[in-house]
Amino acid sequence: MSTATMTGVCPECETDLTVPPVVQGETFTCPECMLTLRVEGIEDARLRLSMVEVQLRDWGQ
Ligand SMILES: [Zn+2]
Repeated sequence: MSTATMTGVCPECETDLTVPPVVQGETFTCPECMLTLRVEGIEDARLRLSMVEVQLRDWGQ
């Protein structure tokens, strides 16, 4: 039995997240608060997440 998705909790807004399988060190964006989260560890398809300081770049738009 394989796990199609993984779950975790956003450390910022505490939303329960269900995401496609990710690997440790990967980042994704919380759909609720739009913060970038990094996968610090995975335990039984539960993700341990931390916030990432995102450097907003001015791309001269
Ligand atoms: Zn969030």
